[in-house]
Amino acid sequence: MAQSDHILNRLCDLQETNFEVVDVQVKDIEIIWRIKHREEAFYICSRCGEKCFSAHDKEWIELDDIPFGNKRSIWKVKRARILCTCTNFVRVEKISFRSSHHHLTKRFVDYIEQVLCTKMFTVSDVTRLFGLDYGTVYKIDHEVLLRLIQQVGIPDPINIAVDEKSFKKGHNYVTIVTDCDIKKVIWVSEGNEKKSLDQFFQILGPERCSKIKTVSKDLWQPYSLSCQEFIPQALEVADPFHVVKRLNEAIDKSRKELSVGSELQVSKRKVISNMQWVLRYKQENMSEKHLESLEHLAKINEPLYKAYLHKEMFFEFFTFKPSEVKGAEDFLIKWIVEAYKIGLVALQEFALYIERNTKVLLNIVLTQRSSAISEGINRKISVIKGMAYGYRCLQYFMLKIMQRCGVLGSLWTPAAS
Ligand SMILES: [Zn+2]
Repeated sequence: MAQSDHILNRLCDLQETNFEVVDVQVKDIEIIWRIKHREEAFYICSRCGEKCFSAHDKEWIELDDIPFGNKRSIWKVKRARILCTCTNFVRVEKISFRSSHHHLTKRFVDYIEQVLCTKMFTVSDVTRLFGLDYGTVYKIDHEVLLRLIQQVGIPDPINIAVDEKSFKKGHNYVTIVTDCDIKKVIWVSEGNEKKSLDQFFQILGPERCSKIKTVSKDLWQPYSLSCQEFIPQALEVADPFHVVKRLNEAIDKSRKELSVGSELQVSKRKVISNMQWVLRYKQENMSEKHLESLEHLAKINEPLYKAYLHKEMFFEFFTFKPSEVKGAEDFLIKWIVEAYKIGLVALQEFALYIERNTKVLLNIVLTQRSSAISEGINRKISVIKGMAYGYRCLQYFMLKIMQRCGVLGSLWTPAAS
């Protein structure tokens, strides 16, 4: 064999196969490789794996390989059909370098997987980068995640956070467990019922469950029941992220009540209706314009203005140190009393929620749990949901959470052949 032929076969990783490169044409936008069986040909049965030494017939098929710079790389491969003794049907031979995505080579699929696993490119990016169709890249991404997740174990958690996330608006929930120490999602399961969290504890096993010290979560009853059953020793801590979220929602609900169903003048209602974002910001982060509208609010509706200031004051609760728990408790009681006085229904409901859960709220102070972890993960999941199409499949959505915010990370290893 000539030296150059040898190099061409090595470039295509064909040296260990029963195929060889017989011709290469370099064109403007593509390179076409012609690949045929070696002279001393044999064919491998795709069913039983035995060698056959005669072909029934042969035809050219096309495979896409890893691009050569900006040129597409197309392999025209002469494929045989054989009549093996394992069945008496004519079937195609097994080609070791062809992937299960029939028009791609195995090593191209490996390469696409690696690019996707860097987490630097979305399925759409990769589709454009390689000029492939979306469905194929989506399938490759789904398959590689499914393969890699099998290799990832659950670390031993000490402090966990449990949260639910909706997959489609209002229905199809998933349960997410985060390890607060490594700040990564370690578990995602379908649904937001007790059994969704039970599954996690069951897989973890009694010994590892007994080592969990704290659990922070929204006060969702089914999760509480699961925690009581599997980790009764763990200290329950309210998740600061959810507390703040509820408080913001209470203010927003008050704003809506005043701007839609109230007896205020239409012009005032209009102003209040447009204040959604102003009421979200902290005063210290407000622009001149927002500060002006806040001053205006003080003149046209005192209760909502007071509610805003009262919300601002609530953040002081998170600054108490573990040695100041008593002070934190007094602070909460005063805050609840003042909240009732303002007279807005939604804020009163929030105050009632605080009153009922004072103990788990005070555990925030004791454990110094911050909202940063949940905030970060929620932000990432919103990005995942926003990644256009392709998230119709719940399993894929769950795998993507494990990859983008979880222990799956940017791991890649080749598939076993
Ligand atoms: Zn066979």
